[in-house]
Amino acid sequence: MNLVDLQQYIADEERAEEYLRSQGILRTYDRCPWCASTSIGRIRRTKIRCYSCRKEWGPRKGSILEGTRVPFTRFLTALKLFELDTSVREAARQLDLAYNTVYGLFHLFRRAIAATDTERFSLSGEIEMDESYFGGRRKGKRGRGAAGKIPVFGILERGGKVRVEVVRDVQGETLLEMAIRKVKRGSLVYTDKFRSYNGLVTYGFRHRRIDHGIRFVNGKVYINGIEGFWSFAKERLMKYHGVRPGKFPFYLKELEFRYNHRNRDIYDDVVKCLSEYSLVAPIE
Ligand SMILES: [Zn+2]
Repeated sequence: MNLVDLQQYIADEERAEEYLRSQGILRTYDRCPWCASTSIGRIRRTKIRCYSCRKEWGPRKGSILEGTRVPFTRFLTALKLFELDTSVREAARQLDLAYNTVYGLFHLFRRAIAATDTERFSLSGEIEMDESYFGGRRKGKRGRGAAGKIPVFGILERGGKVRVEVVRDVQGETLLEMAIRKVKRGSLVYTDKFRSYNGLVTYGFRHRRIDHGIRFVNGKVYINGIEGFWSFAKERLMKYHGVRPGKFPFYLKELEFRYNHRNRDIYDDVVKCLSEYSLVAPIE
């Protein structure tokens, strides 16, 4: 959705509502959500009434927008600003909304992405696996076992997508378990010499180890792809100056999503996530 197309949907609240409804982000009831009577009708533009039990509800009922009063037009505009990677502060200024309101919207987008885009594809072919550490203000100990940092495991299909996840540790068991879930057996896996990758062959993967000292000598044996993702992710997370640890997995999923959709129109892709998330999200 480019700005010219978006302009049509945000021309007024009614059109924005219609768009959100057509995408399944707002719920349409054909019967009363309380008593299931089909005898319902619109009494004002923003209210529907059940003629059996006399309850009334608004257009946000039962949707992920129930907890917010942000106008639909601004919701759609906020999504455009999120797509364009605008900071919350700047987006709040552009939308004339409070910082916390916009922060809440952006986090809703992240939650929708994390909830719906993660489990649907597996990786195959030539695969790179690596772990990295995020967070922690002090430089301190580097690499494996860095105290106070969040370990993240990454799997990248060359020329394809990446999957990253916060892991409780970088033990062989933990990493292999994720590898088994996300990568097709028989794939050729490149890792460095870390011992946690020792079991890959046992589980049906072909495995090549990279010696960082000689990696440029033997042609294709490198893990530059996943290392490229780590620098992409770390550079971007710098901008957020200290993401709260509880929120970190959502930021990580956003980065995975942005990386995997780097050649696509992510506005429409996030709309799809929101639409699917509407079906499963806990309503606040
Ligand atoms: Zn009713």
